[in-house]
Amino acid sequence: MRNDERTAGDDKKYLWHPYTCMADWEEEDIIVIERGRGARLIDTLGREYLDGVSSLWVNLHGHGRREIDDAVSEQLGRIAHSTLLGLASVPSVELARRLVGLAPDSLERVFFSDNGSTAVEVALKLAFQYWQIRGRPEKRLFLSLDNAYHGDTIGAVSVGGIEEFHSIFKPLLFPAVSVTSPYCYRCPLGLRRSSCATACAEKAAGIIASRSDEAAALIIEPKVQGAGGMIVQPEGYLARVAEACRDSGVLLIADEVAVGFGRTGRMFACEHEGIQPDMMALGKGITGGYLPLAATLVSGGIYEAFRDRKFYHGHSFTGNQLACSAALASFGIFEREDVIAGLKGKIDRFRGLLGPVAELEHVGEVRQCGLMAGIELVADGETGRPYRPGEKIGHRVVLEARRRGLIVRPLGDVIVLMPPYCMTDGELEQTVSITREAIAMVTEKGRR
Ligand SMILES: *Cc1c(COP(=O)(O)O)cnc(C)c1O
Repeated sequence: MRNDERTAGDDKKYLWHPYTCMADWEEEDIIVIERGRGARLIDTLGREYLDGVSSLWVNLHGHGRREIDDAVSEQLGRIAHSTLLGLASVPSVELARRLVGLAPDSLERVFFSDNGSTAVEVALKLAFQYWQIRGRPEKRLFLSLDNAYHGDTIGAVSVGGIEEFHSIFKPLLFPAVSVTSPYCYRCPLGLRRSSCATACAEKAAGIIASRSDEAAALIIEPKVQGAGGMIVQPEGYLARVAEACRDSGVLLIADEVAVGFGRTGRMFACEHEGIQPDMMALGKGITGGYLPLAATLVSGGIYEAFRDRKFYHGHSFTGNQLACSAALASFGIFEREDVIAGLKGKIDRFRGLLGPVAELEHVGEVRQCGLMAGIELVADGETGRPYRPGEKIGHRVVLEARRRGLIVRPLGDVIVLMPPYCMTDGELEQTVSITREAIAMVTEKGRR
C-alpha cells in the first residue's frame, strides 16, 4: 500500500473531523495535505491546490513564510512554552504591548488564551462578573445577533444564532436576547435597502435600550457576520448599535476573531465606523495562521474593577511562547510590507473579479467586505428561493472546485472565498474563475 493510501485509510479509521458527517467522509476521496507554500497547499500525491479559504480563515501571509518560520525556530531554541500563571514571558509581553498599540484606544489590557471560542468565553465571563463587582448583579443578560457565530463552547453557543449549529444544544444554554441581524438579501423586516434607512439598526437600538436594566453586554461580529453566511452589515449599523450600548450602559464586545488583522481592509473592523468597544475577542489570523492563539482585549475600566481580585479563568497554554513569537513575526510582515495599505488594490481587484460571478443565474447575491466574500446560491435567482437542503448544492460546488485545483468550503449554500493576503493577481483571478466555473457546472448542468 502506498504511504498516502495508508494515511487516508488510517484517517478514516482513527480520526473524527469537525463539522463533518463521518459516514459521508468515509465514502469520499479525501485529500491529505503534506506541505504548503504561499497560497498553495500540496497533498501527499504532489497535487497543488489554491488555499481559497486561508485554511479556514486563519492564514494571512501564506504558508511557509520565512520570517514566521525563523521566528518560531528561534523561539524554539530558547523555550517552547512556560506558564503565565505566576510567571511572565518575553514574547507575550511584547505581543500584548503591540496589540494594545494597534487596537481601538478604549482597549488597554490583554488576556491571552488559545482559540476564538475561548476568547469569547473570557469576554462573557468578564462582563458577567464586572456587573457583580459594580453592585449590579441583575445585569446578567447577554444580547447577540440573529445569525451570529461566536464559537463552539457552551457560552459562545449561548450567544450564537445559527439554527443548524446551535438548536440541538438549546437545553444546555443560558438565555440570550436576539437582536435583529442586518441580512439585507433576506431582510428580516421585509424592507428594501434602497429605501429602508437602515431600520434594522433602529430596531436593534430599541431592543438594547429596552433591556438596559438587565443586560450585561452585547456581543457582535463587527461589519461581517462570518459563519452566519458572510452577512455584510450596511453602513451605519455597527455605529448605531455601539451608540445604543453606550447610551444604555450595556458593555459592547466586538468579536473580531474572523474580521481582525486586516481581513476587511482595516487592521480591525471596528475602525470602519470608529467604534470603541469595551472588549474585543481576537483569534484566527493573530499568528498569521501558524499556531493556536487568542486574546481578549479589555478596557481600562473593566480592568480597574477587577484589579484587587482574581478572575478565575486560565488555560494550560495561555500565552504560549511559540504562538506569541509567530504573532510578532506576522506583525513584522504587516509593518515591513505595509500590508494594510497594499490590501486596498487587492480588494478592488477581488471586487472586479466577483462582478461576473453575481451575473450567474443561480447566484442570488455576492457579498464582499475586504478579502472576504460569500456567494449565496439560490434555486431561483428572481425570487431568491433557496435550494432544498438535501440538494447539498454548496458541497457539490466545493467538490467541483477541488477537481479544478481550488480548496473552498461552503456555509450551507453560501460559497466562502477568503484568499490569503499573499495571493498574486494571477492566483486571485484563478480562485474566482474556478469558483465561477464550478458554480456554473453544478447549478446550470443539464440546461446548456
Ligand atoms: C471562528 C470564530 C470563532 C471561534 O474561534 P475558534 O478558534 O474556532 O474557537 C469565534 N468568533 C468568530 C466570529 C469566528 O469566526
